[in-house]
Amino acid sequence: MRLTKIKNTKENKTENMGTFTQAFWYFLGDQKLNFIVGLVLFGLAQVFMYAYFNQIAVFINFVNVHKESSDIIEATKLIALLGFYLIISGLIRIFAKERISRIKIINESNIKKEGMLKLMEFPIEWHQKENSGNKVQRLNEGAANFAQLINGLNNVVLAATINIIITMVIFIRINIWYLFFVIAFTIVMYINQKIFLNLKDKYFKERIKLKEVNAGLQYETASNILTAKANDAVSRINTRLDTAEDKIVDVNLKIRRLVAIQWYITHTIGGITIAIFMFLVFKDYVSGALLIGNLAVMLTYYKNLRDAIFEILTSFDTIEENMYAINRMYPIFTEQPEVYFGIDKFPIIWNQIIIDNAQFSYPNQEKSAQAIENLNLVINKFDKIGVVGHSGSGKSTLAKLLIGLYKLESGDFKIGSSNYYDISHRQITDNISIVLQETELFNMSFKENITLLKDFDEVRFCKALKISQLTDILESLPQGLETKVGEKGYKLSGGQKQRVGIARAIYSDAPIIIFDEATSALDTKTERLIQDALDNELEDKTMLFIAHRLSTLKNMDRIIVFENGKIIEDGEFQPLLNKEDSVFGELWNAQSKLASNIIKN
Ligand code: ADP
Ligand code: MG
Repeated sequence: MRLTKIKNTKENKTENMGTFTQAFWYFLGDQKLNFIVGLVLFGLAQVFMYAYFNQIAVFINFVNVHKESSDIIEATKLIALLGFYLIISGLIRIFAKERISRIKIINESNIKKEGMLKLMEFPIEWHQKENSGNKVQRLNEGAANFAQLINGLNNVVLAATINIIITMVIFIRINIWYLFFVIAFTIVMYINQKIFLNLKDKYFKERIKLKEVNAGLQYETASNILTAKANDAVSRINTRLDTAEDKIVDVNLKIRRLVAIQWYITHTIGGITIAIFMFLVFKDYVSGALLIGNLAVMLTYYKNLRDAIFEILTSFDTIEENMYAINRMYPIFTEQPEVYFGIDKFPIIWNQIIIDNAQFSYPNQEKSAQAIENLNLVINKFDKIGVVGHSGSGKSTLAKLLIGLYKLESGDFKIGSSNYYDISHRQITDNISIVLQETELFNMSFKENITLLKDFDEVRFCKALKISQLTDILESLPQGLETKVGEKGYKLSGGQKQRVGIARAIYSDAPIIIFDEATSALDTKTERLIQDALDNELEDKTMLFIAHRLSTLKNMDRIIVFENGKIIEDGEFQPLLNKEDSVFGELWNAQSKLASNIIKN
């Protein structure tokens, strides 16, 4: 039992490492060669650094023996070479650093750009898995960690590794005992680091996840501020935020404590080793294996070596966390959302949209509670169809299926003779427009919200404003069309928001438009005006009105009635109303009773 458990963790680790290598390579993008060149140059800079140290030793050894003024030329040569090595080392290092920094700057921003694009491409169901703050945090955290890792790999791991190799070569040439010394020191430090890394690892992972949760919470609070304030929920929400923040503090403190203990031990080991090292050096000097100049730089070598080992080992912490953050971000780039659209054009000629025996349930919905069941629907070109039914009966689901936000599980779906899912998504959205039940607004101007940054067309725009009854409102605003609507449109009333949504759909000029309870927040008078304008001005469109108030449906060509994801009635307004025991009649009576009650009261 226990054995299998250990085996699993191990497999997990290698898998993580595999994903990580892939992810890292992927995020390097077109900078792979630059990265490798940067690394090589960085290494070269270190080699020249050691040439410089060695030259110092050569110089001291020289002046120790040659003390006459006639030796000045030879000494100058040695000094010039010493300076040359230092300059070359410095120049190469700066050049390499600049190359590597470019990768950091450019790729971090590319990752964010590409990541946002991917997020927007994912289907709705993917997005419903977690909240917006989390996803964005995962992306930003991942990108920042990638940049940090580039630095870490290059400055710390590469430079330090080269330092260790060169020092070892130098040491071995003097006395093999130094090699044993270095190996023993490294092993002790490694064990020390490994133990603490294992202790810290779970906190690193916890920290990244907590940060995501926290960002999600912050984002949600900031964007639902009205609800929070209006319902006196600020203090309770704040407590939640505080608790989440406290958890991060707690984890951070635990990590810091472990780091401190680790460093107490590290410094103690450091002190003991320098004493052993000096003893070895002293013995070599006495035996004549070391000249005075080499003795002088031995301490520098030792210091470099020790720092290099420290740096490599401690950078494991950061690298481990970097790797984890990059691994968490990577799926955003690799996950292949199911593409269920084809590449065909929307048919130019079509007379009917036909949905035949369609089934659909939401991914997180139980199979027994299908949102759409055995749906048969024919929509004739230019038809104006009213859709009614109790709340939760499947009306909005039909709208979402019609614009392809979700895919049918089974059944036929045709536009003219074309299969719906053979048409490209771009073509679908160019030809079918929707006014969502909840209009989502950007913190941009009226104009930008309506045109959604598409090319501006004055005639179409004015028509959209006129039909959605926005002309008067916009004229009365000091900045008119350029007035910003505020985040999520908080400066607008519910009815105004809905009108922007309607204007948006009309501006898009798609031949098919779906209105999902698009006038529910409007007063009856404005609703009437909009409905009349739609009837008169958009005769050449095919339109579906999911209705909130049934009286708006009087001029429809047909009414379809939904119940439990099925169409149970389909016909013209008056006959449906007159039909005995019709659900439509029942819905109508309920609304009229409500209306007359309101008038009576
Ligand atoms: P309505 O007729 O009020 O517009 P909907 O089409 O929105 O009804 O919803 C039909 C059913 O599907 C309801 O039971 C609803 O709870 C469920 N539903 C709607 N959206 C989702 C979703 N994203 N995930 C799971 N279930 C959903
Ligand atoms: Mg709905």
